[in-house]
Amino acid sequence: MSDTSPKLRAELDGIPTYKPGRPAAVGEAVSYKLSSNENPYPPLPGVMESVLASAGAFNRYPDMACTGLTSELADRFEVPVSHVATGTGSVGVAQQLLQATSGPGDEVIYAWRSFEAYPIITQISGAASVKVPLDADAVHDLDAMVDAITDRTRMIFVCNPNNPTGTVVRRAELERFLDRVPTDILVVLDEAYREFIRDTEVPDGVEIYRERPNVAVLRTFSKAYGLAGLRVGFAIAHERVAAALRKTAVPFGVSQIAQDAAVASLRAEEELLERVAELVGERARVCEALRGQGWTVPDTHANFVWLGLGERTADFAVECERSGVTVRPFVGEGVRVTIGEYKANDLFLRTAESFREEI
Ligand SMILES: *Cc1c(COP(=O)(O)O)cnc(C)c1O
Repeated sequence: MSDTSPKLRAELDGIPTYKPGRPAAVGEAVSYKLSSNENPYPPLPGVMESVLASAGAFNRYPDMACTGLTSELADRFEVPVSHVATGTGSVGVAQQLLQATSGPGDEVIYAWRSFEAYPIITQISGAASVKVPLDADAVHDLDAMVDAITDRTRMIFVCNPNNPTGTVVRRAELERFLDRVPTDILVVLDEAYREFIRDTEVPDGVEIYRERPNVAVLRTFSKAYGLAGLRVGFAIAHERVAAALRKTAVPFGVSQIAQDAAVASLRAEEELLERVAELVGERARVCEALRGQGWTVPDTHANFVWLGLGERTADFAVECERSGVTVRPFVGEGVRVTIGEYKANDLFLRTAESFREEI
């Protein structure tokens, strides 16, 4: 590298690059994308109408404060407007949380394996990642996470359900964990898949946040609500944290189209949640079939399943691709497969079955 090239922050060296889910293969007879936990249903007609209506005004900047969406969310969750902060997807909001809390010399704790974005956005902040291995059942090891706290810890992510394993932490263990975390450390409950949970022992982070000023909840419109391509998510957090999120937001980051689609989606919630219920039914069908084939599948509470394939991960992903389904491999560890439409799930199950027979 020449001396005259621009000086870049050393923190960027060796940063893991975010690997988006592979697009569905082209040129195949059928091809389904089960690699990014997206909602397989196309936009609802009502949501589409609102998007088309706001598209006519994109020569204008969006409402910078996301006023309409923020007040809709505040009503829905029965929280003050000042406790809601929006951003460009919940990954955007997570990055704002890091900017607000952590920098060089600080530490950020999260489980591993967990969401791919955590190491990247942590490293960009300049803080050090402290990765605490999942336990033998692929569940957050909350005791080990408490033990990892030092006087440098600024933030802890709890991904519930965990991406990519789909596993959850339940109310009692989460409360016990929070009781042990010093209250000057921000705990972020990342609930991107909240709407897919059916187990009543899994707590709603918004209920937990009410009693605990050091807890922030992340939610997104990308998964259950089917707005992944529009980039809108939000945090519910106490006043100081939410205000810090407004300071660190990219100005005008959330487009008016996204804001209006999010509002329309909240108003169409009943229809959207019916779709979620369909996917939850498919999830049960897929898990049962996989177990019937002899696979060990951790209990999943999200819109995906995890197959811990270890060394056979890459081969399995290639096999899926060949049959027309794109899955998300984590080489050497396992494969995350999104629950999609019936036909896609069937195709995946058939591939899994024949792979199983070969081994
Ligand atoms: C998909 C996902 C998100 C949401 O991403 P957006 O930026 O809102 O699209 C956040 N956290 C986890 C764990 C996820 O899997």
